[in-house]
Amino acid sequence: MISRKLREEIDADPELGVIYREAQTALESAADPGDIESVRVSFLGRKGRLSALLQGIKDLSPEERRRVGRLGNNLKTWLENSLEKKGDMLRRQELEGTLAGERLDITLPGRYMPFGTRHLLSRIIEEIEDIFIGMGYRVVEGPEVELDYYNFEALNTPDWHPSKSLSDTFYVNVPDGEHSDVLLRTHTSPVQIRVMEKTPPPLYVIAPGKAYRHDVPDATHSPMFHQVEGLAVDEGITLGDLKGTLEHFAKRMFGDDRLVRFRPHFFPFTEPSAEVDVSCNICGGTGCRVCSGTGWLEILGSGMVDPNVFEYVGYDSEAISGFAFGMGVERIALLKYGVPDIRYFFDNDLRLLGQY
Ligand SMILES: [Zn+2]
Repeated sequence: MISRKLREEIDADPELGVIYREAQTALESAADPGDIESVRVSFLGRKGRLSALLQGIKDLSPEERRRVGRLGNNLKTWLENSLEKKGDMLRRQELEGTLAGERLDITLPGRYMPFGTRHLLSRIIEEIEDIFIGMGYRVVEGPEVELDYYNFEALNTPDWHPSKSLSDTFYVNVPDGEHSDVLLRTHTSPVQIRVMEKTPPPLYVIAPGKAYRHDVPDATHSPMFHQVEGLAVDEGITLGDLKGTLEHFAKRMFGDDRLVRFRPHFFPFTEPSAEVDVSCNICGGTGCRVCSGTGWLEILGSGMVDPNVFEYVGYDSEAISGFAFGMGVERIALLKYGVPDIRYFFDNDLRLLGQY
């Protein structure tokens, strides 16, 4: 700061006074740090007005040189200090403005993040596993790329059987039209053979997994689908055990009020064989479009293991007996949740999958 007396002296000088007043006006109207820099350059820069004046004092008389030098240097000091003060203030204002602009508004509602759900088929498989684990079963797995031996031969399915045809089975190698013995398994039943080969009885296992068939996709068919295979082998296992086990499963899966019936059927690897139906949940058994007017819905195939199958794995079919069953996971899901088309499961449409 400079004294009032000095300021009056400066103000009274014809040249310094003009610079002093114009500098005051420029400082007052400076609105941001950029303006401050402009003011500094125009008065104190190398070619600034005050700098030019101070450079010119060498041409003045010694007396004037002293007077103008003293006042000019004081004016320069005053202007430098004033520029620094105003500049600091404007920079602080600018920073506060930036901070205020960037402040988070914590009262804004959050953005909606959709939650994922597990795929319906995964949950059905888990539900089936839980029911059988509760009855002492163990979950096992087998390869999806399988040998003809496990998929057909050891399951008592002879070469002439229609399910072995090229139009039903995806063979992995078809050299010169002759199919090799490597294929995509057409059911989860080969896991039975693999487990029995490695494990002596008693055996209580279920094998969930994918299976493949040459099917044209439609509302009830998909070339890739899921099955759960089950196998119980022990001394003295009877058809009554099969019935009790599957009836318990059906009621746990579909509800205690549902009726269960066993219908004679044929499978190459079980004898006798039966298909299992539950009463239709849509019509309650009186007959509707879903159950084709029968009042019943087929949920799985089953039967007593054919002694021939035990021979393949070296089990003594005189000492033990067993039953096996297999169910389509997609079919269980269709029936339990009323999904109208099996293809929905594989379209990855979250609007549908998120409903279950
Ligand atoms: Zn019905």
